[in-house]
Amino acid sequence: MSAHLGTAERPLRVAIVGAGPAGFYAAEALLKQKDLVCRIDFFNRLPTPYGLVREGVAPDHQSIKAVTRVYDKLAAGTNVRYFGNVTFGRDLHHADLKARYDQIVYAVGAQSDRQMGIAGEDLAGSMPATVFVGWYNGHPDYCDLAFPLDCERVIVVGNGNVAMDVTRILVCDPAELAKSDIADHALAALRGSKVREVVMLGRRGPVQAAFTNPELKEFGELAGVDVLVDPADLDLDAQSEASLAEDKTAQKNVALLRTYAARGETGAPRRIVMRFLASPVEVLGAEGKMTAVKVERNQLVAAADGTMRPKGTGVYDTIEAGMILRSVGYKGVPIPDVPYDSAKGTIPNVAGRVTSPESNAVVAGEYVVGWAKRGPSGVIGTNKPDAAATVAMMLADLPHLPAASNAEDVATLLAERGADAVSYADWKILDAHEAALGAAQGRPRVKVTRVDEMMAIIRQGR
Ligand code: NAP
Repeated sequence: MSAHLGTAERPLRVAIVGAGPAGFYAAEALLKQKDLVCRIDFFNRLPTPYGLVREGVAPDHQSIKAVTRVYDKLAAGTNVRYFGNVTFGRDLHHADLKARYDQIVYAVGAQSDRQMGIAGEDLAGSMPATVFVGWYNGHPDYCDLAFPLDCERVIVVGNGNVAMDVTRILVCDPAELAKSDIADHALAALRGSKVREVVMLGRRGPVQAAFTNPELKEFGELAGVDVLVDPADLDLDAQSEASLAEDKTAQKNVALLRTYAARGETGAPRRIVMRFLASPVEVLGAEGKMTAVKVERNQLVAAADGTMRPKGTGVYDTIEAGMILRSVGYKGVPIPDVPYDSAKGTIPNVAGRVTSPESNAVVAGEYVVGWAKRGPSGVIGTNKPDAAATVAMMLADLPHLPAASNAEDVATLLAERGADAVSYADWKILDAHEAALGAAQGRPRVKVTRVDEMMAIIRQGR
């Protein structure tokens, strides 16, 4: 028993692995506890914090990035330290954390993507949308990639908000993007892009689409872009009509789609074609490169749980295209010495308490938040109540928690291992550098996209 944990005499020591929204909201929920004294250390693979707020949110959605002010305030607290440029499983191991922290929170997100599982998916020109997102947002892992933007038509598979983001970025005016913090390499490539049409393929109908109203409304407001919808796709089956009556988001979506269908072509230079009840069944190509996608028309059938599922009708057509971006969901990847549910791509847990996949028993002192906990769903704000729910479990466990030993401070350990950990003050040096470059161009920032360049700027400014 360790009833004294969380007091001034023995503050609770918490490690948070991952400094994205879910990690910050976990810290916020802990720091909000009036009677709890805790010390929080963040560990983050990249030198830069904020996770998907920096590397996922589309560059033309700058206002969403204002949440980082809240994260900065949290990180400035005397009870919080940030260790960026530290890879869990390489610079720092599970056992290192166990020896030093009473509780560990995994906030590692979902670092990979789901596949469609169709022939030709690996041809050149067929890529995950998540990688395209990382590329235009200046994620160091993707900054050297090249996308075949010398084609006229791109196919985007999926009807979620990521599909909406990548579609918008492909057809919007680069002059607009030039006002944002889009990565310079992406801006240059998009300026030279020959893409004139993006075909979005939704495997189910408009009522079942996962995208939300503001994103669909934005399509209709893009200058120089026609949004084309086949009115026949908006003839709903009886069950879709019934579910529409109970779903306000779907009602607004369908209303907007009807407006687009009625507007039709205006002769704009670029276009978005939104097709529904259409599944890619094969990526076709020649000499290792994709050239077209074979698409099957679907119908909707009610599953046992009442949801409407797509079923192929055996009617096919082929769409020529130079690139296909699959946007069918993110997927978590395992991290060393931490339980992993390969089917869900998450860290197995019960209400945020990590569990063993073999025995289902709770792993004492280990917790999970965000996409690693519930899978890749929800907006940034969803992570706030999600993290608070996990923190409630952490607090409930305190009286029974064995206190960690007094191993040497993690900063000493990292230094001994030769890791050049980035503090929050270090990040602010890089932040100021990026902001100054941006100010000179009338942009929020110009992102540094390589870790070695980030570290050189930080070392110079320390
Ligand atoms: P998502 O919302 O789960 O959408 C995934 C889409 O892929 C769905 O339309 C799904 O269709 C489709 N899909 C899955 N498997 C497929 C297959 N084999 N063939 C064809 N289509 C398939 O995921 P996401 O777009 O990656 O977004 C992740 C989360 O981040 C979401 O909660 C999203 O709202 C959020 N986000 C928000 C914003 C924003 O607020 N602006 C921006 C980006 C992301 P079914 O419905 O038929 O399964």
